[in-house]
Amino acid sequence: MTVRVRIAPSPTGYLHIGTARTALFNWLYARKNNGTFLLRIEDTDKERSKAEFTSSILEGLKWLGLNWDEEAILQSERIDLHRKAILSLLEKGLAYRCYATEEELQMMRDAQVNAGEAPHYDNRHRNLTSEEEAKFIDEGRSSVIRFRINKKDSINWNDMIRGPMLWNSKDLGGDMVISRRAPAQEIGDPLYNLVVVIDDASMQISHVIRGEDHISNTAKQILLYEALDLPQPVFAHTPLILNPEGKKLSKRDGVTSITDFRKMGYTSNALTNYMALLGWSPPEGMGERFNLEEASEVFDFDRVNKAGAKFDWDKLKWLTAQEIHDWTPDKLLKQLKLIWSKEGWTLPDKEWGLKLVKLIGPSLTLLNDGLEESRIFFEEPSIKEDGVKQLEIEGAKEALRHISQQLELSQWDGLNHDVAKQLISECSQALGIKKGLIMKSLRAALMGSLQGPDLISSWGLLAMESKDLNRLKKVL
Ligand code: GLU
Repeated sequence: MTVRVRIAPSPTGYLHIGTARTALFNWLYARKNNGTFLLRIEDTDKERSKAEFTSSILEGLKWLGLNWDEEAILQSERIDLHRKAILSLLEKGLAYRCYATEEELQMMRDAQVNAGEAPHYDNRHRNLTSEEEAKFIDEGRSSVIRFRINKKDSINWNDMIRGPMLWNSKDLGGDMVISRRAPAQEIGDPLYNLVVVIDDASMQISHVIRGEDHISNTAKQILLYEALDLPQPVFAHTPLILNPEGKKLSKRDGVTSITDFRKMGYTSNALTNYMALLGWSPPEGMGERFNLEEASEVFDFDRVNKAGAKFDWDKLKWLTAQEIHDWTPDKLLKQLKLIWSKEGWTLPDKEWGLKLVKLIGPSLTLLNDGLEESRIFFEEPSIKEDGVKQLEIEGAKEALRHISQQLELSQWDGLNHDVAKQLISECSQALGIKKGLIMKSLRAALMGSLQGPDLISSWGLLAMESKDLNRLKKVL
């Protein structure tokens, strides 16, 4: 079977990690099977859909490397097709107008709840006579259009992840609304389940792969496929992403949009790697680290779990750090330059940049750590408490004064690793002060704190820009 899959996000929020993971599974499945991966923006909810969310979705998918193969489809541009389908259902008597008012429906649901039943539509307007209908229209009532769901039907499908599935149509909440409330004779805005069926069928989608929160929608959609005489796709329902407490990951759990992950300095490859592991286990021998290409060669729904996948921040951080540590200094420099430029920081030259990157690279977990880790090389540091204490120790300032004086002598020009070491030894011998104390004091003066990257290399970098002497003098 030719594989044609799609991701169909609603632009009612930024690209969510759950949607991105569903997109990833679709993308991997398409690539594995030489298929086509499509994007459909489900923008029919006019009130909640926003252009900025559409941009976030497009940018997020591109950033993750989940490129779609044909032009993205805007659902709102297909409304005529959706209305046509509704009309045909009305004509065939498979759908009907329901004039029940909102208040009436609320009373019905309240009564059901009081009687211990699950709220559902009781199909009260299913068989209105033409007189009854005319009376409602005369009263000026609006109507929704409902699709008939026969209570006796059972709905089956073979889910690629969950295996055989069986739903009773009596559990679907009664006849389903397929178009929003509108004046009696009009067709209101077509609704999700109807619209998705029409679009998936006309886009010739072969496999619908989406979150398990859509299982009951799938049951409803299968009834619509049957009623409209359309070929049914294969379905796969992916496990939800859960927070550490085992609940569905939501905004309350902090960051959930791909834009935010990106802003925080996660890399796209680590994120797609991690998202693939949220629910899928790579074949033995593959290990946990892989790129999109590698995953697409072996991806298979047999290895996707049914159970929800807990989101593990430490693992995502670990994958990100591993990837950053594998990058060449050139690549890391390119990425960090983007972050530095936002601070207005510019490099004296590339050699300096590469040295800095080699120095701080191994201690980065996220790309954004490259901001704080390199701050003292771009900005004058304020001396932190541990630095201040260090500089108060007897001999500290004396040593720094000595080193400053030595630095001003031309014989020490071109400070490098060896020169720095010699300077420290010379100072230690001349003043009888321990090297450890000298080094810590240098650290406090040059970097503002006793923490930070290797002293000698950092000093070298500052010296390349002639920033070291000023810093030493400043604390004297
Ligand atoms: N717009 C729906 C969503 O974002 C699409 C679900 C589907 O894939 O059918 O949840």
